[in-house]
Amino acid sequence: MISRETIDRIFEAVRIEEIIKDFVDLKKAGVNYKGRCPFHEEKTPSFVVSPSKGIYKCFGCGKGGNSVSFLQDLQAISYPEALRYIAEKYSIEVEEEELTDKQIRQKSNKDKLYDATLFAEKYFQDILWNTNEGKNIGLSYFQERGYNEEIIKKFKLGYSPKGANAFEKAAIKEGFNRKILLEASLIGENSNGKSYDKFKERSIFPIHSYTNKVVGFGGRSFNANAKSKYLNSAESLIYDKSKVLYGLNFAKQDISKQNNCYVVEGYTDVISMCQIGINNIVSASGTALSKNQILLIKRLTKNITLLFDNDKAGISATIRSIDLCLQLDMNVKVCLFPPGEDPDSFSKKNTSEKTLSYLKNKSINFVDYLISSYKLEEESDPAEIIEIKKNIISSISKISDSFSRQEYCKIYSQKLEVSEHVLLKEVNAFRNQVSFYKKTVGKEKNISPTISSKTQKLHQQEQEILRILINYGNKSIGLGDNKEYVASIIAREFQVDEIKFSKELHQKTYDEIIKIIKNTGVIDVQKLINNTNSNISKFCVDLIAQAHDISNNWKERHNIMTGREDEKMRKTTEKAILSLKKEIVDAKISQIQTQIKEGSISDETVKILNDLIKVKTKIAKVLGRNIG
Ligand SMILES: [Zn+2]
Repeated sequence: MISRETIDRIFEAVRIEEIIKDFVDLKKAGVNYKGRCPFHEEKTPSFVVSPSKGIYKCFGCGKGGNSVSFLQDLQAISYPEALRYIAEKYSIEVEEEELTDKQIRQKSNKDKLYDATLFAEKYFQDILWNTNEGKNIGLSYFQERGYNEEIIKKFKLGYSPKGANAFEKAAIKEGFNRKILLEASLIGENSNGKSYDKFKERSIFPIHSYTNKVVGFGGRSFNANAKSKYLNSAESLIYDKSKVLYGLNFAKQDISKQNNCYVVEGYTDVISMCQIGINNIVSASGTALSKNQILLIKRLTKNITLLFDNDKAGISATIRSIDLCLQLDMNVKVCLFPPGEDPDSFSKKNTSEKTLSYLKNKSINFVDYLISSYKLEEESDPAEIIEIKKNIISSISKISDSFSRQEYCKIYSQKLEVSEHVLLKEVNAFRNQVSFYKKTVGKEKNISPTISSKTQKLHQQEQEILRILINYGNKSIGLGDNKEYVASIIAREFQVDEIKFSKELHQKTYDEIIKIIKNTGVIDVQKLINNTNSNISKFCVDLIAQAHDISNNWKERHNIMTGREDEKMRKTTEKAILSLKKEIVDAKISQIQTQIKEGSISDETVKILNDLIKVKTKIAKVLGRNIG
């Protein structure tokens, strides 16, 4: 566990613009920064970063938060992982609080497997660099492939020696038990119960998860008698092949920045391309992309370019990947290399500039790719032509956005020699075939309870009070002895009338604000933004960003109000409190009316109802005056 002191130090050091700049191109805009939102597709920037508040907010998709939640959301990592990321960036030493016995016992099996794979990764690297066998076999192999020292170290490549059970012995000496090593697929067991090193006499390519943990290994054998030249870890508690992309842990930032992800077949393709500076690249490990793999990429960009081989297996993997990408609302392009070349070989023969311009110029739209890979233009058999066209139409029908579907039909009707009208009709026919499935799956969405408009209004008003409290609570209004903080006015009203918020998050946020005022005397906005409860933190960011113009609001923070603004502030506060009271009374009235409709009428309820209506009328009168 990270100590409280360390967490405080991290929040003191972090500059949100420095964190976000690693992922988003930010341009200065007044006191703020602006850029294109990494959470949704947009052409004009609506993503605003405020260095002074330490928050970001997207006015397109609504996402907002502080540095930690930005990293958590963008990289799908945990709170401690995001804190560690920042600590590393600012060279802050992370103090860990000692785990209690109970916490140690709870350390899951998963963690034990991670410990074992991490040990193995270090062990294989150590053998590669520091033993004669490693240098002569493993290292010289990587060097023959053209890898430089920097790239070998970046990808943590290693070598597993040929000595019998060499790895297992080293691991057991370090305290790992055999069961864990077996579960992590680091050792195997033959039929008579004897164990052996899985990756014996192989060069090692560690496979990392999205969050940079070693989950498995790939190994290339140097032994002519080995059953398979290439070997991968078996799936385990921590390694699910369909959820891992080789190289993604290194490529995340570049994928975001370039707003595109190249997908290649093999590990060596990734490494070679990275060596010439093309870093937004991952490998699907020789198969078509899985749904989960595409979703991993989708967190970073909506654009995928497939660079699979142009052989039979490569083509079929490309076509399957295209369909899945389209279904998941991604834009897909394909880039084919000259005959006999793959990304690995091409990048070795060409400079970075040449490779980049090849990728740029030769990346084609998925429909063009399908037309050429099905060899439509060479086909003369009508039955074959129909079959090919149907396949292409089926792919177009997978595009989830109706406008894009229409555009594709318009653009490709000529090339496919099908009128636009017929093409669109066929595409829709394909969609209808699968809509039965969608209907059954989509059903669950409608179950969510509908919140009545009364409750909604009440929630809105509660939010308005909190918005005023956070943004203007520290302002004092009035003169001389009548001077009073906006926060005090609100707190007093809540106390006197025993007002409680109807929404749990609202009440929690309010309690937190009151707690901060009691401790420090003022509303410390940073304490709210960096609250350990991420719901409170995000909610407060929203409230702060909700002012009509975020920059104006932030600018006015330290300004002294003029007489007119002072009066306006008082009115706004009073109006908000009254409106909330009105909504609360309204909600109670409708609650009682429902009871009456259901038949439970007593003299008592009728009396309460009448009183409430009187109160409501009174409030409405005051409100009318106040606003008027
Ligand atoms: Zn957005």
